[in-house]
Amino acid sequence: MKKILIQGAMESEICWYLEQECFQKAEKTTRNGFLFYRTEQDGREILLQLTKMGMVYASIATMTAIYEFQPDVIINQGTAGAQVDTLKSGDLVIGSQAVNVHSLEMPKRDFGEGMAPEEWVKMETEYIAADQELVRKFEQGIGQETRTGKVVSGILGTGDLFSKEKDRIQWLHDTFGHLSEDMESFAVYKACQECGIPCVALRVISNNELLNEDYDKGTSLELQRVIWETINHCTFSNNTV
Ligand code: SAH
Repeated sequence: MKKILIQGAMESEICWYLEQECFQKAEKTTRNGFLFYRTEQDGREILLQLTKMGMVYASIATMTAIYEFQPDVIINQGTAGAQVDTLKSGDLVIGSQAVNVHSLEMPKRDFGEGMAPEEWVKMETEYIAADQELVRKFEQGIGQETRTGKVVSGILGTGDLFSKEKDRIQWLHDTFGHLSEDMESFAVYKACQECGIPCVALRVISNNELLNEDYDKGTSLELQRVIWETINHCTFSNNTV
C-alpha cells in the first residue's frame, strides 16, 4: 500500500485533517518525540506528522518519518510570511524549490564598528527542487485560486527567523529570490534529497509584514482543505502515489 506523509509544524497546521472522518479512528503514535497519526483512505495509507517548529526539528522529524515509516511521498505544509508585496494572507505558494536564507557570511568588523547585516554576502547557496510531478499535481489539483486567495509556484525561503524589518525582507528577497519565509521547508527538502524521497512543500501566507499584516494562524485551514481535496480527487498517475 502506498504511503503519503503530510507534515505540519504546529497543531493549528494539522487540526483540519484530524477532523476528517478517516482520522477519527486513526492510530496515534510517537517516535523520537514526534507525534504521528496513521490512517487509511481509498487504499492508501496516510500519515500525519507534527514536526514542531524550526529547521532542526524539521530535519530530525523528516528523518524519523523516513526511517520509521518509509513514506512514498512527503508533503510538507504550513504557514509562511510573504516576502513580496504581491502576496497577501490567504494566498498559497507551491514550493518548486527551497533555499536556506541563513546561508550568509559577513565581512569582518572590529569592536565598536557595529553590525551591518545588509553587507552580509550570500554563501554558496543550494536551491533544492521539489519533485516536479508532485508540483504539477498540486498546481493542477488546486488550480489558480483557493477560497482565500491566489496560487503561485516559486521559491520557498527557510530560516530560523521571523523577519519583520521591511528593509531586511526586501534585502533577503533580492538576495535569495524567495516568495515566502518559513522555518521548515528547506530542511525537509534536504532530508528528502538525501534519502531519495519525492517531496513538495506548500505554504499559505499567514502574514505579510510589507503590507502590515499580522500572523493569522487561521489561514492554514484552507491550505489543509485544498491539499486534502487534491490528494483525494487527483489521480497521481506516476509511480509516486
Ligand atoms: N508566533 C506564533 C507563530 C509561530 S510562526 C506562535 O508561536 O504560535 C512560526 C511558524 O510559522 C513556523 O513553523 C514557520 O514555518 C511559520 N511562519 C509563518 N510566518 C512566518 C514568517 N514570517 N517567518 C518565518 N516563519 C513563519
